[in-house]
Amino acid sequence: MSISGSPTKEQVIDILRQVNDPELHRDLVSLNMIKNVAVCDGNVRVAVELTTPACPLKDKVREDVLAAVRKLPGVANVEVEFSARVRSSPFKQAMLPGVKNVRAVGAGKGGVGKSTLSVLTAVGLARAGARVGLLDADVYGPSIPKMLGVENARPKVAGENKIIPIVAQDLKLMSVGFLIEPERAVVVRGPMAHGLIRDFLEKVEWGDLDYLIVDLPPGTGDVPLTLSQSLPLNGAVVVCTPQEVALLDAVRAARMYQMLNVEVLGIVENMSYFIAPDTGKEYDLFGKGGAEKAAARLKVPFLGSIPINVAIRKSGDEGNPAEIFEKDPQGVGAAVQKVVENLAGQISIRNESRAAPVELNIHR
Ligand code: ADP
Repeated sequence: MSISGSPTKEQVIDILRQVNDPELHRDLVSLNMIKNVAVCDGNVRVAVELTTPACPLKDKVREDVLAAVRKLPGVANVEVEFSARVRSSPFKQAMLPGVKNVRAVGAGKGGVGKSTLSVLTAVGLARAGARVGLLDADVYGPSIPKMLGVENARPKVAGENKIIPIVAQDLKLMSVGFLIEPERAVVVRGPMAHGLIRDFLEKVEWGDLDYLIVDLPPGTGDVPLTLSQSLPLNGAVVVCTPQEVALLDAVRAARMYQMLNVEVLGIVENMSYFIAPDTGKEYDLFGKGGAEKAAARLKVPFLGSIPINVAIRKSGDEGNPAEIFEKDPQGVGAAVQKVVENLAGQISIRNESRAAPVELNIHR
């Protein structure tokens, strides 16, 4: 303690060694999350740098820091300030030098809301303050340009064959949809998909990004498999609906990633339940909770449930996903926000756990 009775900066830092990040389960000091401590006449200010701006447990970190510092004698007041810096995946690839994390969104089959969830999670991360790119690699149904209201945009080519991504809703976007007529069938086979994705990775000016979200084609066939192998993925999210038959497909998709040594960051249950707009009553249309059980069986995190709601369908058709967050119709925005935060949390956890480098391992 200093002469005035106020604790010293070192004492504050020492006590913060006892505060663990609730997700990373290590103390804030050794995680290098304490950026500054200022002490003046018993007034303490602690600057904490989170590992993602969409931190799911920010309030818990604040409470734990406050409680720990208040234990020190001579403390009159404590303030906690937050900033965020997304950390890079330990498996960052040379192909995308400015991109810290490349995450895929996949599904066992089409129509479960994979593209919708790709858009909403990307928009949610960008709204939290992250730098986000979205690569629509769903060659069978590239719907993301429409979902972001830029279906008539065309990316420009600059300099030495570089493609400038379209910017929509604060996201850098590139899509197969920009290259084809909207109603033309896309016939792609594995090797073509591989070439396409290399162009998207190498020729598109992604710049510096915290997260690049990739919307993959559904299923476990030749094309999604080739794309998953061609991309420098640090993890994948599987979207599914709760019916038992749908879950079987989702489990197959999750197992495909696991076989390719792409970590499954979690499963999201879309169209999980329905809230009647007139009464607010919740209806279980398809058997809510199935995805959570499938996640437990696969030993992967469950990231949350999104209700079936007309506002989500409209936001997709009208190209205005921000409305879901801004208006939060019937709690849909809050449900999506939770998934966004859980996903960001899982990415931080994986980045900190520093697993051994992956090797491709396809079981025949
Ligand atoms: P996928 O990418 O899996 O094929 P999409 O994201 O294109 O599926 O969604 C298919 C359709 O379902 C779209 O019209 C979309 O707006 C709608 N949709 C997706 N999720 C929801 C939801 N939770 N509530 C209402 N409509 C949804």
